[in-house]
Amino acid sequence: MFRVRSASSFFYAVLVQFAIAVPAMADISDQEKPCTDSQSTIVNQALADAKAAIGKAIDSFKAPSSDDLARQQKWFGALSSDTAAKIQNVYETSLAQASFAQFWCPLSNDLSFKWDVGDLAAVSPDEAPGAIFLTPSFFDLGTSGKDSQMGTFIHELSHLVGIGLHPEVYGTDDALKLASSDPVKAKNNSDNYQYYVEDLIFGISTASQNSASKAKHKAS
Ligand SMILES: [Zn+2]
Repeated sequence: MFRVRSASSFFYAVLVQFAIAVPAMADISDQEKPCTDSQSTIVNQALADAKAAIGKAIDSFKAPSSDDLARQQKWFGALSSDTAAKIQNVYETSLAQASFAQFWCPLSNDLSFKWDVGDLAAVSPDEAPGAIFLTPSFFDLGTSGKDSQMGTFIHELSHLVGIGLHPEVYGTDDALKLASSDPVKAKNNSDNYQYYVEDLIFGISTASQNSASKAKHKAS
C-alpha cells in the first residue's frame, strides 16, 4: 500500500505489482484521457458483464440458496440479517453507480500522469466523482475468473460507494483469511466484494492460489 493525499481527496488504486515509490498526485484532470475506440469496446463489455454479475449478486442476497449462504460466509464471514442487508445495499448502490460511471484511460508508467508502475485502475471520489481511471495494464486482465476486468470494476465501484479499508487487504488468500478472522473488516474490504461476485459467477477455488502477481493497493 502507498499513501497519497492530495488536498481532501481520497485516491484508490489497484496494482499488479508492489509499489516502491509513488510520485505525488497531479491534478486529477491531468488523468482524464479519453479511451480509444478499441479500449471503449472492452470497457463497455466489462461494464455490461459487471452490471449483470452485480445483479446476480443482489439476487443471491435477496433469495439465497444454501450455496449462496456458504459463499457469503466464505467471503464476508458470519452474517446477520442486518449485515447481509448492508452488503446487498453496497451491491445495489454499486449497480446504480455503474450506470453513470465515467471511464478515462490515462497512460500508465508515464510519470507525467503520475501513475505508478503496474496500476490497473483507480478512483478519486472527491475530485472526480463517478470516474474510473484505467491504465493499459487493466486491458491485460482476463474477462473471466478471479481478478478479471469485470471484477476490477466491481472493486472500484465499491470504493465509489464508500467501501475501503485502511489499509486494504488484497488477493484471494488474504481476503479469505480476513473473512474468517475479522468479518467486520471483510465487509468493508473491496476485494471481498469483488471475489464474492467472481466466485458466484465463475467459481474461485479455495486452494491456495493467491494472485501474488497482482498485489494491489489503496492510497488515501
Ligand atoms: Zn481498492
